[in-house]
Amino acid sequence: MDNVREQIEFDVLFVGGGPASLAGAIHLMKLAKTRGIDLEVALIEKGANIGSHALSGAVLNPIALKELIPDYMEAGCPIETDVRGDEFYFLTSTRHYGVPFVPKYMHNKGFYIISLSKFVSWLGSVAEGLGVNVFPGFAGKEVLYGQDDRTVIGVRTADKGVGKDNVPKANFEAGIDILAKVTVFGEGPRGSLLQAISKKLHIFDGKMPQVFETGIKEVIQLPGTNYFSDSQGNDIHTFGYPLGLNTHGGGFIYEMKENRVSLGLIVGLSYQDPMLDLYEEFIRFKRHPFVSKLIKGGRVIEQGARTIVSGGYYTVPKLAVNGGLFVGSSASMLNPPALKGIHTSMKSGMLAAEAIIEAFSKGSFTQETLSYDHKLEESWLKRELYMGRNFTQAISKKGLVKFFHIGAQYLTGGRGIFGKMPIEEDSKTLIPLRDVHSPRTKMYEKQAYDGVLFVDKLTGVYLSKTQHREDQPCHLIVHDLNLCVDTCFETYQCPCTRFCPANVYELEIDDKGRGRRLKLNPANCLHCKTCEIKDPYGNITWTCPEGGDGPGYTVV
Ligand SMILES: Cc1cc2nc3c(=O)[nH]c(=O)nc-3n(C[C@H](O)[C@H](O)[C@H](O)COP(=O)(O)OP(=O)(O)OC[C@H]3O[C@@H](n4cnc5c(N)ncnc54)[C@H](O)[C@@H]3O)c2cc1C
Repeated sequence: MDNVREQIEFDVLFVGGGPASLAGAIHLMKLAKTRGIDLEVALIEKGANIGSHALSGAVLNPIALKELIPDYMEAGCPIETDVRGDEFYFLTSTRHYGVPFVPKYMHNKGFYIISLSKFVSWLGSVAEGLGVNVFPGFAGKEVLYGQDDRTVIGVRTADKGVGKDNVPKANFEAGIDILAKVTVFGEGPRGSLLQAISKKLHIFDGKMPQVFETGIKEVIQLPGTNYFSDSQGNDIHTFGYPLGLNTHGGGFIYEMKENRVSLGLIVGLSYQDPMLDLYEEFIRFKRHPFVSKLIKGGRVIEQGARTIVSGGYYTVPKLAVNGGLFVGSSASMLNPPALKGIHTSMKSGMLAAEAIIEAFSKGSFTQETLSYDHKLEESWLKRELYMGRNFTQAISKKGLVKFFHIGAQYLTGGRGIFGKMPIEEDSKTLIPLRDVHSPRTKMYEKQAYDGVLFVDKLTGVYLSKTQHREDQPCHLIVHDLNLCVDTCFETYQCPCTRFCPANVYELEIDDKGRGRRLKLNPANCLHCKTCEIKDPYGNITWTCPEGGDGPGYTVV
C-alpha cells in the first residue's frame, strides 16, 4: 500500500475541525495577512462535514469570539438565543429545590446558547473564506516523524476501502501523507494521535492524569407553548438526582430557537459502581418530575454523546514538541467549574497561532519557538484555568465533603484547603461488584421508552445519524477478548456494556449460561471515547475509522 501513497505539503496543518483548530486557523490567516507572510494552511476533520462530530451543551462565553471575529454578528454567527437568566436546582428523586446562590462561574447571563455543530460549521466557512484548505472526511491516523524520530513532520490520513479482513478492496484509496512545517493537534478530548505522541515524547510526564466526564445530549422539539415561553431563566442546571452525591455530574437544559431545547446529563467518569449505565442515568434524569414537565409533549430530534476533559490546569501537557503544538480539549483547555471549553479551546488555538507566526518569522520550528506557554501565562485563559485548578478533584470526592472543598476554593480563588489536590485516573476508580453495597441495576428495571420523547439506545444512535462503512477493520481494538469475558466479567460484569452510550459492546451468553462472548458493534460508535478512558484494564484502544464515518450531527 505504501508505494501508492501521495504526499502533499503545507506550511501548517491543523488536525481536527473543532473550535480550537478553527479559531487557530482563522487567527493564523489573519496574522499572516497583516504581517505579509504567505502561508499555505490545511485543516483535516474526520467527520463527513465540519460540525458533524461537534457536540456540546452549549453556552458560549463570547470572549474569544469577540477577539477573533469582532463583527461576528454581521458575519452571520449562528446564535440560538441569548441567556436571559440562570436557574440552578438540587434534585431529589421526586422534588426540586432552587439553589438561592448561583456560583459566579455559573453566571451565564449575557452569554449565548448555540448549537456547536452549526457554530463550528460557520467557523469552517470563515476559515475557508480566508484561504484555509479545509478537508472534511479525512482522519489523521498516524503521526509522521522526521529522521530524528522526534520531530513531527505531519500526519498520515486513514486508508479508505480496506475490508474487515485487512485486504484492500476495489474502491481502495490509500491515505495521504500530509507534511507540514508545523502540525497543530486539536483532536478534542482523548485525541488518538495525542495518545501516540504522548507514548513517544512523554508530553504528560510530571502532570496529573487527564480525567473526563461523558455527556449524553439531545435536542428536543417542544410544543409551541412551553416552559420557556414565559420563563426568565433559560439556562438551567441541576445536580443531585439521578447521580446522587457520590458520583459527580449534573443535568442541563438550555433553550434554543424554534421551540427547541438542548438537554443533557454529564457524568464524571470517576464513578465507582460498575453497574452504572450512563444511558439509563440519562433517561432517569429526563424522567424526573421537574425535567419531564419541562419537556412534556416534546420529540427528540437529535441525540449524541461526547466526553469532556475536566482535569483542568494541572493536567495540561507540554504544549509543543519539535514541529507540533497541542490545543483545545486535547490539551485540557477547559474551565471545569464553569463547564465551558469552547472559548478556552478557541483561545488556546489563537495563542498557538501567535506562536506559529513568530516561528515563521524566525524560520525555526523547534519545541522552544512553538511553545505558547508564556503567552498562556499572560492571558485570561491562564487565569480561568488556574481558578478551576482543583475543582474536579473536589467534586470527585464522595458525599458532602465535596461542598466543603468547593466552598473553600470559592473563597480562596481556587486554592482550597490543601493547595494542589491529587486526582485518580478514571480507569482506576471502579470497585469490584462484590464490594458494591447496592448496585444500581434495580433502578433501571422499570424504565420504559415511548420512541418519541424517551428513546432507547439504538434509536438514539439512529438519531445521531451515525454511519460507518461496515466492511472495514474494527476501529475499536480490544486487545484480549478473553480478559473481557473471564476476569472482567467476574469482577465487574463487563462494564463496557454500560458505559458505552451506543451499545457498541454486547455480552452474549449461550443457553447454558456458560459460554460468554463480547460482541462488538463498531458501526454504532459515537466517537465519544468513553470506552478507552473508563475500561479498568486498559484493554480497549480507540482508533479513527475511515474518514467521513461517525456521527452526522447537525443541531446538537
Ligand atoms: C455534553 C457537553 C456539554 C458541554 N457544554 C459546554 C458548554 O455549555 N459551554 C462550553 O463552552 N463548553 C461545553 N462543552 C465543552 C466543549 O464542547 C469543548 O470543550 C470544546 O468543543 C472543545 O473544542 P476542541 O476544538 O478542543 O475539540 P472538539 O470540539 O472535540 O473538536 C475536535 C474535532 O477534531 C476531530 N478529530 C479528532 N481526532 C481527529 C483525527 N485524528 N483526525 C481528524 N479529525 C479529528 C473531531 O471529529 C472533532 O470534530 C461541553 C461538552 C460536552 C460533551
